Amino acid sequence: MQSHWPDGFLCPKCHSTKYWYRPRRKLLVCQSCRKETSPIARTIMHGSHIPIQEWFWGAYLVTTITPGISALQLQRQLGLGSYRTAWFMLHRLRRGMINDNRTPLLGTIEADETIIGGPVKNKRGRGVTMEATKSLVVGAVEVFSYVDKKGNQKEKAGRLRLAVIEHADEKTIGLFLRENVESGSIIRSDGWRGYSKAALAGYTHDQRVVSSSTSKHAHQVAPHIHRVFSNLKTWLQGTHHGVDPKYLSAYLAEFVFRFNRRNTPQAAFKTLLGIASHKKPVTLRQFKS
Ligand SMILES: [Zn+2]
Repeated sequence: MQSHWPDGFLCPKCHSTKYWYRPRRKLLVCQSCRKETSPIARTIMHGSHIPIQEWFWGAYLVTTITPGISALQLQRQLGLGSYRTAWFMLHRLRRGMINDNRTPLLGTIEADETIIGGPVKNKRGRGVTMEATKSLVVGAVEVFSYVDKKGNQKEKAGRLRLAVIEHADEKTIGLFLRENVESGSIIRSDGWRGYSKAALAGYTHDQRVVSSSTSKHAHQVAPHIHRVFSNLKTWLQGTHHGVDPKYLSAYLAEFVFRFNRRNTPQAAFKTLLGIASHKKPVTLRQFKS
C-alpha cells in the first residue's frame, strides 16, 4: 500500500484518507464516496492470489536477510502452500529490484569478468566446449579510499553493477561501461584485451597487469570486484544450489540490489515496494519463455 500512497491512503476521487479494507476482494473502499481501489494494481503483486501481507513479508525477508533467501526457505518462513508459489514470489520481487533510474557509478571503478557455473570438473579440454550451465558475468564496483583510525590508507567498495554478457570483447565491455559508469571515471582492470582504448574511451585506464614474475595475482590486482564475485558464487551455490542460466540476470539484480543497500536494509525494503509499483506484472509464462 505504501507503494501507491507513501503517506497513507488517499482516495483518487474525493481525496478522503479514510477507507475500509475488503480482504476477500483485496480492495480498499473509500469511506466517503465508496470508490473502490486496488492497492496492488500496477505493482509486482498484481494478478497473483498471494495475500498482500505475504508480499510484504516476502519483500521484508528478501531485503533484510543476508545473504538473501531461497524459495524453499521462503515457503517455510511464510507457510506458503507450495514451493512454486514461493519461487514465483521471489521472481516477482527480483523484478522489482531492477531499478531503471539508478545513477551511474563514479570515481575509481574496478572492472572484471567471471565465469558462473563453469565446466564440469575433470571434463576440461578436448571435446568439452561451452557447458550449458556456463555464463559469463561482467562486474564493476566503486572503490573509495579512506584513512582509518590508525592513520592507514584503506579502501572499501561502494556501489556495484553486474551483467550477463556473451563475450568479453572490447565492444561488449565498452557498452557495459558506458551504461553503468560515468565518463571521466578511472577504470581499474587487468591486462585483458577487452579493456582496449576503444572500450575505455572517455575514461582513465588504470591497468594492472597480472604477472607471474611479480606474483601479482588477480585478486590483488582488483581485490574488491574479486570479493564480489566470490560472494556472488557462494550465494548462488550455497543459498540457491546453482542457478539456471536463463534466470541468472534476475539473480544478479537481487544480488546487486542487496549489495548496494547493505548498510540500510530497512530502507531497501521500502525501496523495493516503491520501485515495484512502477513495474509491469510478469506472468509465470513470461518467466519460462
Ligand atoms: Zn472517496
